[in-house]
Amino acid sequence: MTPSDGKLIIVAGPSGAGKGTLENAVMERFPDIHFSVSVTTRPRRDYEIERKHYFFITKAEFLKRIEQNELVEWQEVYSKNGHLYGTLRSYIDSALKQGEHLLLDLDIKGGINMKKAYPEQSVSVFIKPPSLEAIEQRLIKRGTDSPEQIKIRMDRMPEEMELGQQFDYQIVNANLDDAVNDFTEILKRDVYHQ
Ligand code: 5GP
Repeated sequence: MTPSDGKLIIVAGPSGAGKGTLENAVMERFPDIHFSVSVTTRPRRDYEIERKHYFFITKAEFLKRIEQNELVEWQEVYSKNGHLYGTLRSYIDSALKQGEHLLLDLDIKGGINMKKAYPEQSVSVFIKPPSLEAIEQRLIKRGTDSPEQIKIRMDRMPEEMELGQQFDYQIVNANLDDAVNDFTEILKRDVYHQ
């Protein structure tokens, strides 16, 4: 492997599509794929570790990084109280230079922008729920959103599905094992060239 072989595996999808569970299962199967750590203004949750889950920074620091062009892409994520999330250019470039593969969990628009910024080095994967009913059921079951928030998310779904067509691949997450296998096939082909 040459140092230029590092790949960016961009993953996005509507909330409730089971993105996180699928990512964890894939990373377990491919231990040399590292999770890309973003910067965010969101407060740290108790179980989260600085530099492992995120670089937690203030809004002022975030705005300074935008101004200094240190972020490849960034978004205000409305479903997260308008907190800011972004990908550090230096972080990505240093990983790629070392031939590291990174998995980036981004919001949908961020995923599209990331692919545009690194078209040759990235493979983008959109995680879809099996149906709109299924996603609504998952959101209700998860219990973290109020009925009003669930309605807002559901209203946004058609537009999000449309944006999902801009990704290189779409995986329907109806069954976790099948989705992990689909993801594995994509990685074998586009990342490991097997
Ligand atoms: P959470 O706050 O639950 O960790 O994640 C909030 C959302 O922000 C998720 O949908 C995640 O994919 C997205 N996100 C995390 N980091 C970034 C980033 O660097 N850029 C963009 N555009 N979205 C991000």
